[in-house]
Formats: sequence, C-alpha cells, structure tokens
Amino acid sequence: MTSRGPAVPLAPRFDSVTLVVSDVDDTLAPPFRDISASLAHALTRLLGKGTNLFLVSGQGIGNIERRVVRAFPRPLRRRILVGHCHGAEVFGYDRAGRRVVTPLFSVRESAAMEGVFRKVLTIVTNVLNDHGIAAPSPGILLEDRGVQVTVDFPGHPAADRRAELVTTLNDRLGEAGLSVEARRAGHLGIDIVARGVDKSLPLSRLLTPLSPRGGTTYRLTMPDGQVAGDWDGIEVWGDQFSPPDLDADLRMLAALPPGVRAVNFGPAASRPGIRTARAPGPAGVLDYLARSESE
Ligand SMILES: [Mg+2]
Repeated sequence: MTSRGPAVPLAPRFDSVTLVVSDVDDTLAPPFRDISASLAHALTRLLGKGTNLFLVSGQGIGNIERRVVRAFPRPLRRRILVGHCHGAEVFGYDRAGRRVVTPLFSVRESAAMEGVFRKVLTIVTNVLNDHGIAAPSPGILLEDRGVQVTVDFPGHPAADRRAELVTTLNDRLGEAGLSVEARRAGHLGIDIVARGVDKSLPLSRLLTPLSPRGGTTYRLTMPDGQVAGDWDGIEVWGDQFSPPDLDADLRMLAALPPGVRAVNFGPAASRPGIRTARAPGPAGVLDYLARSESE
C-alpha cells in the first residue's frame, strides 16, 4: 500500500453524520481505479467515529471490494454496506471484516429471477454477434454478475454503438419474456438489470422510518441487527444528479424523505436541495470532509 500522506482532519459537523450513502465511480474513486490512500484514511476516521457507509454502485461486489472496501481496516468494515449492481443485492461484513455470505437484500429472492441472467447472457452474445461484434473478443468484457449482466467495451469501437445495441437488446429480452432491461452504463458499458432496479431500491429495502409518517428517525438493517438514527444525520454523495441520462445518484433521493442532504461531486445539477461541491470527484470528497460548512 502507498503512503497515506498527511492526515486530513474531519470537519466538526461530521460528528452528527450517522450515515453516508455514496456512489463509487467518479465519487470515491476514478472508474477502474482504487480509492486513494488519503481519502480512505479520511473515511476510516469517519467510520471510527461510528458513522455507517452505504456504498451503492453499478459495479459488481468483487470490483467494489477490491477498489474500496479493502482499503478500510477489517474491524471497521462492519460499518460498511455494499449495494452492488445498482443495489440489486446488498452485502455487509462481520466483526472480523469478512463479507457475510447471505445478502441483506437480493433480487435473487424473487422467483421470477431464477436462471434469468444465464438466459440474458446468451441473448447478449447473440445480439453482439448479429451486429458483427464477436464476443468474447479482446476489448469486450462480458460478465454475468448473478443479479446483472454487464458488457464493457474498453478500447472497442462498439462503445459508440451502444444506443443501437440497447434498443435491439430490449426488443429481444422483451420477446423472450424476461423481466429485465438493458441500459447504457457509464461511458463504456451496457448493463442488463432486473426491471425496477435502480439505486433507490436497496435504500428503500434497508432504510425504513422508525415511526409512521413524519417521524424524524430511521432504522437501518446491518448484519448485526438494526441501528437507528435521525434522517437529519444522513448524507448522500454522488456525481450523477442530472436527468434524464445522468441521474443514477438522483434516484437514491427517491427513497429518502425530502430534506436529506445531498452533495453532488459531479457536473453542476440545478436541483433544489442538492449542493454542488467545491471540487468534483474524489478530490472534492476529500476537500469536503475537511472543510466546515460555512466556508
Ligand atoms: Mg458515479
């Protein structure tokens, strides 16, 4: 591991933050890269104070663990939840920092999803071949993540043909009667996800009001049981708050009461209640953690 660099002091207002819900790519780390040692260090301090961290990302669990989770000390990983594949499934960690095998939530629990992604994989391969794109081939990554199939085109010209591929895929998936949909993902990929899965789903399943309507407290399901907190103590971090196409992180707010703080580390999005950070991306998160609100 590289040197941790100078320690970043957390702004005092983080004393009252009980839960950070965060996107991964372009928020905590550049796509395909690891979280920086300095940001991991700052977030480790936050977790050390008792804050929970709920990661919600379109990436698969293995990718998120390799790039982000493993940068945290094992005993603190019990404060981390990972909603991978846009939150189609959520995992937590035990006191030794090991992933708990049984997910806290999964779309696999739905009988309609049994064996679906194996069929999806076949359809995707056929559609690519019908478009003259040999798969598998160098520059194309095709992966069945169990709750999502992802095609990535790093360094392949087919990345420019994603709109047409998504249209054909949705026609064929519909003809096959599968309850899934294809969407463009990030700048280079296509994800095929269970219908109705977006980043609001894992939050609405695991984060619930403690009292009916109008209450100020939530409870969050963790591997050890439920923890309670004030909605006021939640922050949502992301880089995509711009509808119609770049709104993956905006969806998270749909599962939360109005007024929950959202911080945008991406291009400015003029949405009420969302503040845009002083600097974008992971460097912006590091700056934000160290800065007091009034600056
Ligand atoms: Mg992102």
